[in-house]
Amino acid sequence: MNIKIPFVDLSFQHQPIQNQIQQAIEKVLLNGDFVLGKALANFEQAFAAASNTAYGVGVASGTDAIALGLQACNIGVGDEVIVPANTFVATLIGVIRAGATPIFVDCDPETALIDLEAAAKIVTKKTKAIIPVHLYGQMVSPKQLFDFAESHKLLIFEDAAQAHLAERDGYKAGSVGIAAAFSFYPSKNLGAVGDGGILLTRDPEVAEKMVRLRNYGASYKYYHTDAGTNSRLDTLQAAVLLEKLPHLAEWNCLRLGIAQMYDAEFAAAVNGIIPMANQSGTGHVYHLYVVKITDSCSVSRQEIQETLANAGIQTGIHYPIPCHLQPAFTNLGYKLGDFPHAETLAKQILSLPMYPGLTLSQVKEVVAAIACTLSGEQQLLAVNGY
Ligand SMILES: *Cc1c(COP(=O)(O)O)cnc(C)c1O
Repeated sequence: MNIKIPFVDLSFQHQPIQNQIQQAIEKVLLNGDFVLGKALANFEQAFAAASNTAYGVGVASGTDAIALGLQACNIGVGDEVIVPANTFVATLIGVIRAGATPIFVDCDPETALIDLEAAAKIVTKKTKAIIPVHLYGQMVSPKQLFDFAESHKLLIFEDAAQAHLAERDGYKAGSVGIAAAFSFYPSKNLGAVGDGGILLTRDPEVAEKMVRLRNYGASYKYYHTDAGTNSRLDTLQAAVLLEKLPHLAEWNCLRLGIAQMYDAEFAAAVNGIIPMANQSGTGHVYHLYVVKITDSCSVSRQEIQETLANAGIQTGIHYPIPCHLQPAFTNLGYKLGDFPHAETLAKQILSLPMYPGLTLSQVKEVVAAIACTLSGEQQLLAVNGY
């Protein structure tokens, strides 16, 4: 089947700045400073500044930014860390790799963001931190996070892997907690040409420790104060990211416009399908555009997905199995039924095509294809070559 509307298309981002990207790559090739080079330092500074915080430490992936970042915040063995059950599994892997104990909590079914009221009930003497995941590009409310963290004496460690330059209550993603992890996986709002990540922090001690941890734990060459690892953001990747960063705000703005178009089309045309709520207005950066296919919808999510696929429209599910039900983590002792909202969402959610460059007529086409599915016009769609 021909792909008519892909789930993600990065060419719109890369094509207009391809020359700049190539020149930046050539410059690194000439300099030869492939590891911990100049473009890395420049990018770290630029991304931290853009996110309204002080320090950036580039690492090999978002997962490493979480695992090493927690260690840099002195969170580890014996510490409990509260994480949402409905996140990408990397959040959980980061906590486990830091040696800490993940404690799951359910989410708000309207936004899919972590439920802080539920989190308040599971705080123990061992709880050291909470990881709000700014899921789908929407920040967890900073105001509510500050209240929560203050009343329970906890650290906030943001998983901002889906929320580059997102804003809420006047705060940028990455400026709320003691530290924040970002990913530059290619399809993230800011993506490298391969894997990459960064830890942002306003705390100079956390930044210093992170600089050691990513570089074999070395304080200076061949003198090791921490049992660190090798996890650095390549200078080449940083050079590419540095070229893309000035365009990020505009790309996020395009995502917002696309989301608003989807919202309007769904409100007008479709019953039983509810877009995830946006409670942060124009600060939502829509890494993903997610709708819920509710029970009152006349067809199942699977049927909708299949019909769209047959029409050449790609969709995704983020994520089909909540973390507490993943086979790798049964030893944590959770079971089906523990987090009803996360479990229901996993069955209902559907992510629609979303990327800067998706046109408004394509958005209309996606929603029209879904509307046709609901009114039993699949055959008609197929005949029309959708
Ligand atoms: C992508 C992502 C990560 C992991 O980032 P990688 O760079 O792929 O390691 C972590 N958390 C969330 C919420 C993500 O979406």
